[in-house]
Amino acid sequence: MQIPDSAPFSEEQRVALTRLLSGITPSQFTWLTGFVAGVEAAIRQSGLTPSVAVEPAVGAMLGAGLRAASVPSLAIVYGSESGNAEGLAQMARKEAGKRGIKATVVDMADRTVADLAREKHLVVITSTWGDGDPPDNAVGLHAALMSPEAPSFGGTSYAVCGLGDTSYDKFCQTGKDFDRRLEELGAQRFYERIDCDTDYEQPFARWMDAMLVEFLKRFAAVDPAPVAVVGGGAGAVASEYGKKKPFPAPLKEKILLSGRGSGKEVWHHELLLEGSGMSYEPGDSLAVVPSNRAEDVERLLAVGKFRGEQVMVDGVSCDLSSALQVHYDCTGLTKNLASKYNEVAKSDKLSKLLGDSEVWRQYLDGRQVVDLLADFPVAGMEASDFLGLLRKMPPRLYSIASSLRACPGEVHLTVATVRYETHGRDRVGVASSFLADRVKVGGTVPVYTTTNKNFKLPVDGDTPIIMVGPGTGVAPFRAFLQERQAVGAKGRNWLFFGDQRYTLDFLYQVEWQEYLKDGLLTRLDVAFSRDQKHKIYVQNRMEERAAELWRWLEEGACFYVCGDAERMAGDVHEMLIRIAETHGGMSRIDAEAHVEGLRKAKRYLRDVY
Ligand code: NAP
Repeated sequence: MQIPDSAPFSEEQRVALTRLLSGITPSQFTWLTGFVAGVEAAIRQSGLTPSVAVEPAVGAMLGAGLRAASVPSLAIVYGSESGNAEGLAQMARKEAGKRGIKATVVDMADRTVADLAREKHLVVITSTWGDGDPPDNAVGLHAALMSPEAPSFGGTSYAVCGLGDTSYDKFCQTGKDFDRRLEELGAQRFYERIDCDTDYEQPFARWMDAMLVEFLKRFAAVDPAPVAVVGGGAGAVASEYGKKKPFPAPLKEKILLSGRGSGKEVWHHELLLEGSGMSYEPGDSLAVVPSNRAEDVERLLAVGKFRGEQVMVDGVSCDLSSALQVHYDCTGLTKNLASKYNEVAKSDKLSKLLGDSEVWRQYLDGRQVVDLLADFPVAGMEASDFLGLLRKMPPRLYSIASSLRACPGEVHLTVATVRYETHGRDRVGVASSFLADRVKVGGTVPVYTTTNKNFKLPVDGDTPIIMVGPGTGVAPFRAFLQERQAVGAKGRNWLFFGDQRYTLDFLYQVEWQEYLKDGLLTRLDVAFSRDQKHKIYVQNRMEERAAELWRWLEEGACFYVCGDAERMAGDVHEMLIRIAETHGGMSRIDAEAHVEGLRKAKRYLRDVY
């Protein structure tokens, strides 16, 4: 090992350091890092500069009975799709640092399971995606940890924080997987797991504080001074606006993209961000904080017949109807909510439903909070008790469909309106119907931008890109192309788009055709599934163009997928493996490893849900 010339040391110091580090053993190295961290913490406390403080600091440290090797260090690994878990990992690192703990933040994509097993102290912060799946950067590590070949974690202590959404069946599944499997592999849980819902800030901050206190209590011979609880919006960009204070963005324009007679209703929305101080990059998302439909609130009030008109929301008195409309998710029904409701309703029938997951799943299908109130009525429930069951209105994240460089001061969205009927009631998606029906041009939409580091254009503008975006999954690729045009990137661009019908659902058709004409788009392949008897999907087009697609990949192209996670993303993944087999001449196992290698090299990126 050679200390580089650029390091801030004299020639003599560099030689001494190089000599020391060349012969050092791993355990000596661990001891030394702990020692240096301890000295650093002591210096910080003394307020003196290192040159005058090192000796007294070391003396004080040792005098206080603190062996240098006992200064704990912590690896905080994150699995993140939209950046929230990563933001929390960074927050935990900073907080640990304030308490003298040397913490590092580690992307799960950058660690093997063997690396992880070597960590002495581990904090896992991970979201869950789709149907209980790990986020993209955690896929490899998660699979390796679950495999029978996973190593022992006998020397590791750990704590897990899961992020999720209680409206999904497999709430925080990935966090639970890590927690259970680490224990099975012999790791010691030093602090209980937390499963956070969409309003995770405060619960996470409390958990982090208590977890760090416990960590110091167990692993360092120091008195863990209580530190104020930290809140704040992780993942948001620096601006006075964010998760806690969304920006009221004026709606400049809305255009119905679907043709008359389409089975879909897809809108293009243009919002203004001027004056917000918020910015974004292509690949990022916009969080929209919607309000409920007035008739859903009225229906709920009529069915629930609650006692009390005024309620407190965040310490402010508010009438029940506006509290429900603006502040609470009053439609999403979850098992957790129904169980808490039944503490008041005390219904045997509901208890039975809740006691059998399959029966509960059948009941839940297509039902909302209002159905629960109608099916298991409680006479004269206090309004405030009812509100206590609901969660705060969660924001909805939409992939941004514009580039700030091409559309300064604006942010565009592509949103399909969700409308359906179940159990005799008409239902709507809260956010999509909010945007389609309740916000008029000139009105405002509460929003904030959220970064997605895992879905970015390649830094080198010459790198070719292949984009697969059926339906509204095409949104971020509009942003990518706008950006590449705005910065004059020379790389080739290939788009696969699919939807139901050519004449009705070809989203942004004119724009793609313009891009083809002026050469920005090198190739466009479309798959209209319902224009013929048999279905044609984007992966069928990939297959038809497999030789060329493989050539692009061999030439270094990045491969992007956005859209439906449930079926499309898996089928496209499978096609990629098959193309590696057929055109790369690989065995199935090698082809799978090759595609996994592309993912690890951040050349295969997905934004799917
Ligand atoms: P969609 O339902 O995905 O349909 C688009 C096209 O894909 C249709 O032609 C559909 O065909 C076809 N399709 C169906 N199954 C497929 C499969 N297994 N493989 C390939 N194509 C398949 O379009 P959408 O209504 O616009 O919904 C888009 C989806 O993407 C939603 O689930 C949305 O939540 C998600 N989305 C995610 C992001 C993100 O992750 N950031 C952004 C935007 C949208 P048929 O219907 O004829 O079968």
